[in-house]
Amino acid sequence: MTNQECIFCKIVNGEIESKEVYEDDNFIGILDANPKTPGHTLIIPKKHFRNILDMPTTLGNELLEATKKISLKLIKEKKAEGTNILINNEPSAGQLVFHMHAHIIPRKKNDKITF
Ligand code: AMP
Ligand code: ZN
Repeated sequence: MTNQECIFCKIVNGEIESKEVYEDDNFIGILDANPKTPGHTLIIPKKHFRNILDMPTTLGNELLEATKKISLKLIKEKKAEGTNILINNEPSAGQLVFHMHAHIIPRKKNDKITF
């Protein structure tokens, strides 16, 4: 399930470079090209789904596990005191890349990030 036009499919297939920080059976984690804060990571399913509304719920546990592992790693490595986990679904919600991805945004007190 690859979409030829999709930038994140190309990243999963190794056709476009990325800084990969995580991998399991069905997901990869890469550093966001325009990080909101240092360590900003995207969790991306290896298969192409438009967004979470299109992703089978059977992948839910693995997605949750990946977001927790990466959040805890960022906190342990001191890039973060906490994290925001964010998924944009459809353009009105700010989705720009139409291959499902969850943002993990490391947070520190007084980092001045707003949503
Ligand atoms: P969204 O608004 O949730 O669709 O966000 C798309 C995110 O993908 C943005 O935070 C971009 O900075 C990020 N992004 C787009 N292209 C790349 C890329 N080639 N490598 C890493 N991150 C990317
Ligand atoms: Zn894709």
